[in-house]
Amino acid sequence: MSSADELTVTNSAVRHTLIAAREVIGKKQLYESLMKANLNRFIQALPPDDLKENMKASEYALLSQTILKEYQEDGPEILRRIGRSAFQSAIQNSSFSLNMVRKVLAYLSTSQQINLVLNSLAEAQKKTNPQTDVWAEDQNGIKTYIDGTCLECTGRKESQPSCYILAGFLNEAVRWAAGPGFNVIEKNCISRGDDFCRFVVQR
Ligand SMILES: [Zn+2]
Repeated sequence: MSSADELTVTNSAVRHTLIAAREVIGKKQLYESLMKANLNRFIQALPPDDLKENMKASEYALLSQTILKEYQEDGPEILRRIGRSAFQSAIQNSSFSLNMVRKVLAYLSTSQQINLVLNSLAEAQKKTNPQTDVWAEDQNGIKTYIDGTCLECTGRKESQPSCYILAGFLNEAVRWAAGPGFNVIEKNCISRGDDFCRFVVQR
C-alpha cells in the first residue's frame, strides 16, 4: 500500500452505492450531492457493473460526507439505509455472487452464518480490489469486520466513527445471512485517528 490517496473504488461498488442512494434520497437530492462533491461525471450515467476503477476513495468518502452533512442529524440513518440498500442491489447482481454462501447457510448455526458472511465479504473485497486490506474476526463470540483501508473515510477527519454506508451494508449482509435482530455498529474509525475502521455485530 502506498499513499491512501491512491486507493480507488470499483465501478461496481460505485454503481450499487449510487443506485441505493437514488432509491433512498431520490434522484434530485443525489444529483445535488454529487455536484457538491465534484462528482458531476456520475450524474449522466451510472458506471458499468465491472471492476474497473473510475473513482478515487477520497471522492467516495467526500460523497458520503456530503450526504451526512446535508441531512444533519438524520445523516447517519440515511447513509445506513443507503448501505443496506446497496447490499441488496449488489446481491441481486451476478458479479457479486454469494451463491455458494447462500447454499450452505441452512446447515450452519447463527454464529457460523455471521462468520461466514463477514469472511466472504472480506474475501470478495480483497479479490475485487486488491489494494484493500480487510478481514473478519471472531474473538470469544465477538464478531468484527475490520477495514484497514476504508474507502468511506479516506482523507476525512471526523470526531466519531462515520462510515455509515459500510455499517449499513454489513448490517444488511448479517441480516441476509442470519436473520433480523442484529445491529452492526462502527466502534473505531480511521477518520478519527484509529488504525482501522472496526465494525462490531451486536445483538
Ligand atoms: Zn472508515
